[in-house]
Amino acid sequence: MTNGKTKILEDMASTEFRKYGYELVDWIADYLDNIEDYSVLPKTEIGEIKNSLPDQPPKSGESFETILSDFDKKIMPGITHWNHPNFMAYFNSTSSGPGILADLLSAGLNINGMSWHTCPSATELEEVTLNWLAQMLGIPVKFWGIIYDTASMSSLHAVAAAREQAKELFINGEELSQSNYSQLRIYCSEQAHFSIDKCALTLGINKEGIRKIPVDKEFRMIPEKLSEAVKQDRKNGWLPFCVVATVGTTSTTSVDPVKEIATICKKEKIWLHVDAAYAGTAAIIPEMRWIFDGIENVDSIVVNPHKWMFTPIDLSAFYTSKPEMLKQAFSLSAEYLQSSSDEKVTNYMDYGIQLGRRFRSLKLWFIIKYFGVNGIRNRIREHIRLAKKFADWIDNNDDFERMAPVHFGVVCFRAVPKNISDDQSLRENELNKLNEKLLNKINSSDKLFLSHTVLNNKYTIRISISGIRTLEKNVKDAQLIIQNKLSEILT
Ligand code: PLP
Repeated sequence: MTNGKTKILEDMASTEFRKYGYELVDWIADYLDNIEDYSVLPKTEIGEIKNSLPDQPPKSGESFETILSDFDKKIMPGITHWNHPNFMAYFNSTSSGPGILADLLSAGLNINGMSWHTCPSATELEEVTLNWLAQMLGIPVKFWGIIYDTASMSSLHAVAAAREQAKELFINGEELSQSNYSQLRIYCSEQAHFSIDKCALTLGINKEGIRKIPVDKEFRMIPEKLSEAVKQDRKNGWLPFCVVATVGTTSTTSVDPVKEIATICKKEKIWLHVDAAYAGTAAIIPEMRWIFDGIENVDSIVVNPHKWMFTPIDLSAFYTSKPEMLKQAFSLSAEYLQSSSDEKVTNYMDYGIQLGRRFRSLKLWFIIKYFGVNGIRNRIREHIRLAKKFADWIDNNDDFERMAPVHFGVVCFRAVPKNISDDQSLRENELNKLNEKLLNKINSSDKLFLSHTVLNNKYTIRISISGIRTLEKNVKDAQLIIQNKLSEILT
């Protein structure tokens, strides 16, 4: 061992690793303790970070002090603070202490969980934690789970499995010919996340193969319209093979009626995938279980603990009741990876595109063990309570109006001050401009970060309360900032 000595051919000495490891843990603890001292958004100009770094890599290694000092001076200024309690844009993903520490351990172990053989603990812990999570969410035992990086990837695998099923059901196991490929059709609502379009495009289904189903006033897919579309498409020679229902759409968090959609899909023999990337976590609280009504009849589900379960990005939990379809779509291997245990174990590499797999289940396991089901429930319940309180504030404030129902931690609203034109067409145009200006003013306050969407051509501001560090006082501060910035614009 050469502990403490400069090494020419080996890794950093353990004494040095220990010293800077402790220092970095202290740094992270201080960072999280004092996170409110940072402005949520960085103030850097485009290219500023890049220009502050040398064009070429260092020829000789630098001291760890230099690296840390460069990190502080050159990288930190361009950091957007997703962990900040006033980061209330998009679907916030915040890390938590146990998640951060588990990721550190995972980097230390550096296993590759491609098969059981390459790391039994990684495979078996993934099976156990996904089983725990399924119980927490009320996902029936017939569902089999796997962890991917993001919901986009989970949905891509769902659509690939759906296509595999279509081959079985409609083409009797024969390969679809190129001409048949262009006939495949996938359905999702007008409010579905664009990752679904990307999945379809990636799998060779062109834009015409993606059919958007209209939504009702509450932005939910209308099942009758889906049923009509499928029937019409079959008549016109299309092959309907997959429907994606969303539980918690990105703009408004609307919940598609999974039960009714599942009945249609069962009858039509179409794969039903549920994108519950953000809102699925809410099913952990018993009073929110309704969001998964009918879930026993779907083919696959995605829930992202990195969106609303305090898990450092990335971790997407994917469940399917037909893992054999997924395996059929993806199990290709090479001789060098075969082992005598293959028949008896799960080799996760057989269920997806990637071969190498990080030890993601470790952080999920740490988080569930550390907070417990009740601890997670309390935090999710509180976020929903705070969102409803914020919605009440909007509803009772003459300067604002609410734009969508509130089910989870997101409230969609816009400013509608009195001195706006009465002429309907001018009015909407003016309101759109005003709300865009308001959002820009809020975000340049350095104190709060919100995002926006457009609903029925109306520019809409979105607040998302799902950060583990976001408390009632932060939401009250947000209200004050929003109101003050509107007053500044109007005076
Ligand atoms: N599905 C929904 C409903 C989303 O809101 C998002 C992102 O916000 C995604 C999928 C994509 O998530 P990911 O970044 O994990 O791919």
